[in-house]
Amino acid sequence: MADIHELSAILADQIAAGEVIERPASVVKELVENAIDANASKIDVLVEEAGIKTITVIDDGDGIEAGQVTRAFLRHATSKITDRNDLFRVHSLGFRGEALPSIASVADVILKSATAGAEQGKLVHYRGGSLLEESGTDARKGTSITVKDLFFNTPARLKYLKSQQTELAQIVDIINRLALSYPEIAFRLVHNDKAVTSSVGNGNIQQVLAAIYGVQQARKMLAIQAEDADFKVTGYVSLPELTRASRNYISVLINGRYIKNYQLTKALIKGYGSKLMVGRFPMAVLAIEMDPLLVDVNVHPQKQEVRLSKETQLMDLIETAVKERLQTENLIPNAYDNY
Ligand code: ADP
Ligand code: MG
Repeated sequence: MADIHELSAILADQIAAGEVIERPASVVKELVENAIDANASKIDVLVEEAGIKTITVIDDGDGIEAGQVTRAFLRHATSKITDRNDLFRVHSLGFRGEALPSIASVADVILKSATAGAEQGKLVHYRGGSLLEESGTDARKGTSITVKDLFFNTPARLKYLKSQQTELAQIVDIINRLALSYPEIAFRLVHNDKAVTSSVGNGNIQQVLAAIYGVQQARKMLAIQAEDADFKVTGYVSLPELTRASRNYISVLINGRYIKNYQLTKALIKGYGSKLMVGRFPMAVLAIEMDPLLVDVNVHPQKQEVRLSKETQLMDLIETAVKERLQTENLIPNAYDNY
């Protein structure tokens, strides 16, 4: 056996990248979540060839101080948490400090950023984990990142990508869910110079639903609300007549984070009782607020899986809220006509 030695930082980043960055949509998710954490009010996402050629994310958020920009590309470097206690009370979407170093290790990345009032912005250019250029740039407040040649140095990853159509669909899905989660942010997704999704950012979820799924569909979504000692649930669920062939149109957010949780989705569907046809699923957006101590988001590098304390209690709350809302709807057939 060879001697035990530490891996180079670049190699370690590439290994970590494998867990965080699976496909173009993962890059989009991480970059847009960073923009959200930076308090952006407007986020533009421009992609070419389903993100395989380029992904650009432009935000008008807080920006990064010029002196800290290269630090953002260090592994496990973050401005979002400091100590153990913060880890159990994560309020931001990011906290692992892995996205930027991971992306920079498997692609060509140019980041420009400036904070409010700065005289100059800062530009850095990384490729395959190496810093190629560092310079001053314009002082527009916010951050823009362009990612090119994704997986150019990890051919196995590149080969594993699906058709452009499939990769693009995943990007659209991420942007739609984030737009629904943050109706107060104006999102725009452009693919090969054509607008795909846009939301105005005025805080109205129903308008985002209309922008994404169409006005007719949005009219068939009912507002729901429920609360108990530990959880607050708000959102929209479709009338039983508006269904889809998969669960993919159900978005569940916990404290603003879009998560995948089979149990909570199941509870929502159960609320429909026998009103759904076999193999059909409702459309829904559920935003759940809870004490961050009740949820562990540090389960997986992509931060989409969570562990919940009191999961059964939350499932009951969701099921009952949906059931009762649909019952009321039957009593007042035209309640949604005033939208
Ligand atoms: P994390 O989001 O987990 O902190 P990242 O690698 O995604 O890790 O980002 C590292 C750091 O770079 C962030 O903590 C943040 O300080 C800074 N950063 C990244 N993207 C942006 C952005 N769009 N606007 C402002 N700061 C950013
Ligand atoms: Mg991040």
